[in-house]
Amino acid sequence: MDTTRRGFLASTVAATGAAATRDLAHGAEGEHDHAHQALPSDPALRIKSLESLLVEKGMIDPAALDAIVDTYEHKIGPRNGARVVARAWSDPGYKQRLLNDADAAIGELSYGGLQGEHMVVVENTPKQHNLVVCTLCSCYPWPVLGLPPVWYKSNAYRSRAVIDPRGVLRELGLRLPADVEVRVWDSTAEIRYLVLPERPTGSEGLNEAALAALVTRDAMIGVAKVRLS
Ligand code: FE
Repeated sequence: MDTTRRGFLASTVAATGAAATRDLAHGAEGEHDHAHQALPSDPALRIKSLESLLVEKGMIDPAALDAIVDTYEHKIGPRNGARVVARAWSDPGYKQRLLNDADAAIGELSYGGLQGEHMVVVENTPKQHNLVVCTLCSCYPWPVLGLPPVWYKSNAYRSRAVIDPRGVLRELGLRLPADVEVRVWDSTAEIRYLVLPERPTGSEGLNEAALAALVTRDAMIGVAKVRLS
């Protein structure tokens, strides 16, 4: 038992190291070099321990867990949000519905449910840039963005996004002119925010599918702009 737990902890630490390495590689590209939490929290470790035990005792099917993880990695992810954004860019009526009642408009594309019961869409304009954070933990609109990235859950992002949003954006590679107002939205278990980014100039001839392909997760959190290719 003791050995099993040690073995489990060792593999968890190794997995965390691999994840951190991936994230740092991403950081080098995106100039996003703030500190990350290196180890999972104690509750996360406990959940992993429980999962290992339940699988070991045959009480849950690892394949079922894989299916759930696959759903969140591949089916409920930022591609859904990108479709919502592309629809809003292409259809002014839809955009209005989206800004007035995000849950209903997002539901028109059949997205919704867990962790997306009360979504609010905030629109970026040439004069206002919106940035989303969860200062308390990691609240995030799962149905349209999937699971939050590691940096979104980091202490550094959660605290600094409200103290110095422009500085955080600059470190993430986004420099905003001084006359652009930055608004920070604090997601909670009650309300989860999604940014409607500005449609890039030069994208006028693109259809909805091509537009959706341009929209990134980071743009929908508000730490990046949507660019043409
Ligand atoms: Fe949270």
